[in-house]
Amino acid sequence: MLMREILEKAGVEIKSETDSHLICICPNPAHKDIHPSFSVNKYAGCYHCFGCGISGNWMELLKLLKVKATFTPKLTPPRKSKVITDLSKFWRGKRVERFRKDRNFSREIIQQFEVLEDNEFLIFPVRDKNNKILGIIKRAGRHFYTYLPRGGVLYGVQFIKRGKEVILTEGITDVMRATEYGYQAVGLLTNRISKKQKKVLSTLTDKVIIALDYDPSGRKGSTQVYNSLKGSVDIFVVRLTENKKDLGQLNKKEMEEMMKNRRSFLVARLTT
Ligand SMILES: [Zn+2]
Repeated sequence: MLMREILEKAGVEIKSETDSHLICICPNPAHKDIHPSFSVNKYAGCYHCFGCGISGNWMELLKLLKVKATFTPKLTPPRKSKVITDLSKFWRGKRVERFRKDRNFSREIIQQFEVLEDNEFLIFPVRDKNNKILGIIKRAGRHFYTYLPRGGVLYGVQFIKRGKEVILTEGITDVMRATEYGYQAVGLLTNRISKKQKKVLSTLTDKVIIALDYDPSGRKGSTQVYNSLKGSVDIFVVRLTENKKDLGQLNKKEMEEMMKNRRSFLVARLTT
């Protein structure tokens, strides 16, 4: 049985599809989803909602959908994921300018991070620490499509100066914002750290400040990141709040305040 059939049978409204994911209206009854925010991996069955933050594996998906586990997803191996490294067909125009104004970014930061566009999407190139282009992320509204090698990347890693502290965050705009305010930051593009990401990060710094989003999955992710990195680097954590859930929303003063109030990860966990 295909994932699409399983979801349809459970009454989930599928709005679009990529090579690897089905994009749906979130089935969480507590989340009155209007946009399709719920993304399900067609092959692994794991899911994540960009609206309410719920996520889980295949078994948890069945539970969420109240579907008996008599189905098994057809684990067709996905086509080799397409990696796009040619930036020549993209440009910088109205779409980029709208993004810049909406997010209140400087022109310099847009140029530094090479934000581009095509007809439908914003394009965010991803480079490695030697500035070699690895691939791109396309964004339309709240939907992200990655054209990157497997195993995880560190968004913004090409700007990291070795030996200085690094803020570890989730998203593209979080990294751009921190960089704009003069901090070093890289983005996991998810809320977990992979072995590959850990390896690169630990060659660049021995001091990491975890600043994942303020939501249940960000909190869970912080623990995973801590457990993965402990022993190899010093780990601090900063506190985001309900009003300012991610770094991208902070103004300069708020970020300075947040960085000043950073705490050792363990102390923070013991006291909150
Ligand atoms: Zn949701």
